[in-house]
Amino acid sequence: MQPFRKITFLGIGLIGSSLARAVRRGKLAERLAVFDANPSNAARALELGVVDEVASTPGAAVAGADLVIFAVPIGANEQLAAQVGPHLEPGTIVSDVGSVKMAVIRDLGPHMPQGVHLVPAHPIAGTENSGPESGFAELFDGRWAIITPPPGTDEGAVARVADLWRGAGSEVEIMEPGHHDRVLAITSHLPHLIAYTIVGTATDLEGTLQQEVIKFSASGFRDFTRIAASDPTMWRDVFLNNREAVLDVLQRFTEDLTALQRSIRWGEGDQLFDLFTRTRAIRRSIIDAKQA
Ligand code: NAP
Repeated sequence: MQPFRKITFLGIGLIGSSLARAVRRGKLAERLAVFDANPSNAARALELGVVDEVASTPGAAVAGADLVIFAVPIGANEQLAAQVGPHLEPGTIVSDVGSVKMAVIRDLGPHMPQGVHLVPAHPIAGTENSGPESGFAELFDGRWAIITPPPGTDEGAVARVADLWRGAGSEVEIMEPGHHDRVLAITSHLPHLIAYTIVGTATDLEGTLQQEVIKFSASGFRDFTRIAASDPTMWRDVFLNNREAVLDVLQRFTEDLTALQRSIRWGEGDQLFDLFTRTRAIRRSIIDAKQA
C-alpha cells in the first residue's frame, strides 16, 4: 500500500501504541505523532520509539496529518473532536478504534469539516492491560478489524483504512455501524458484564469464603477474573454508549438463565446436557476459525 505521510494518534495506550508499532513494522507511514492527555504516556511512547513526535495540544498534533486515529476511551471522543475539528485539513481521513460505533459517529461526525472523511474502525483484539508499555505489534495479527463507514463515506478513504488494517496484520470486514453494536453486545459487552458481576459477587462474600474463592480459583473463577480486570474507564464508557443493544441481549440472557435455573430445580438433566453439548460445539468452531 501507499504509506501515509503522517499518522496522528490521539491517545497512545494499549490499542494506539499497538497499532503504532504495527504501522512501524509494516512501514505503513512516514511519521507518527501523538497527543495524549496523560503526558507521561506520551513521553513513554516517544522513549520507546513508538512515535516520532509528541504534541502538547490536540490541534498541533493533527497539523499535516493525512490520517488521524482516535484511540481514547469512548467518553473522551466528543470533547477531543471539538478541539481538533478546526485544525483538520480537507482530504484528511479520521478514524478510531473504539469498541462501540454508533456513539463514535454521533460524537465525531458533527465536528468533521467539509472534505474530511470519517471512517470508524474497531479491531477485535485486546488484552486486559492499559497504557503504552502494554502494547505490542503482533496484537492484530490474524484478528478481525471491523470498519463501519457511515452511509455515503468516500470509498477511497474506506479502502485506505482497510489497507492500513491489513498492513497491521488483520482481516477486514465492512459492517453497518448499528449491526456492529448489536454483534459486539453479545460477543464482547455481555461477557464482560457477566465477568464483572461474578467477580463482584465473590468480592462481597464473607472473609473465609472469599479467601477460598481465590485459593481454588483454577476451577473456573480465574478465567472470569482476567476479563474482569479490564480497564474500568473504557468499560464504563462502552456500557453507557451501547445501552440499548446491551440491555436487549441482557434481557435475552436473563430469560435463558431463568430457564436454566428451572431445569436445575426440577432435575431436568436432558435440558442441561443438550445445552452444554451445543455450547461445546461453539467452542470447537471458534478454535477451527483460529480465533481462540
Ligand atoms: P488505554 O490503554 O487506557 O489508552 C488510552 C489513552 O488515552 C491513555 O493514555 C489515556 O490516558 C488517554 N486519554 C484518556 N482521555 C484522553 C483525552 N481526553 N485526550 C487524550 N488522551 C486521553 O485504552 P485502550 O485499551 O488503548 O483503549 C482505547 C480505545 O480502544 C477505547 O475506545 C476502547 O474502546 C478501544 N478498544 C480497546 C480494546 C482493549 O482490549 N483494551 C480492544 C479494542 C478496542 P490515561 O491513562 O491518563 O487515562
